Amino acid sequence: MAAADPDCLFCKIVAGEIPATIVVQDERTIAFMDINPATRGHALVVPRAHARDLHEIETEDLAAVAAVAKLVAARQLERLGAAGVNLLNSSGRAAWQTVFHFHMHVIPRYADDPLRLPWAPAPGDMDDISAAGAELAQ
Ligand code: 5GP
Ligand code: ZN
Repeated sequence: MAAADPDCLFCKIVAGEIPATIVVQDERTIAFMDINPATRGHALVVPRAHARDLHEIETEDLAAVAAVAKLVAARQLERLGAAGVNLLNSSGRAAWQTVFHFHMHVIPRYADDPLRLPWAPAPGDMDDISAAGAELAQ
């Protein structure tokens, strides 16, 4: 596995050094709630192994991330009442990437929600983020 990058925010979440509302974890991946949710239930899936972006991630890790994204997306429909899901990966500053540890956004979409891309990140209500995370966990 790639060594954790000591300056990487998501490596710190993977290592448990920074708290996160984790919804799924397995050998290769962790899924947790985004603290600036684009919509209610917005989650991120990351590989445990540090990789900067789509170009650096191992293919096996990408497949593992995709499988967890699919699981989380299904739960967003079943448990949060979402009507659709956007999967989004930003690779490179020009593509809006701001955290340079690969992540797949799993964004539940609700009928007629106002979300437009790129969304303007704004802090979410932590109690509601935790509540949505609890609904998506297990
Ligand atoms: P990017 O802009 O790189 O595609 O996405 C980075 C995402 O990470 C953003 O949606 C942002 O809200 C989220 N984020 C940034 N810092 C933290 C943090 O400390 N915890 C969590 N859970 N999400 C974060
Ligand atoms: Zn990292």
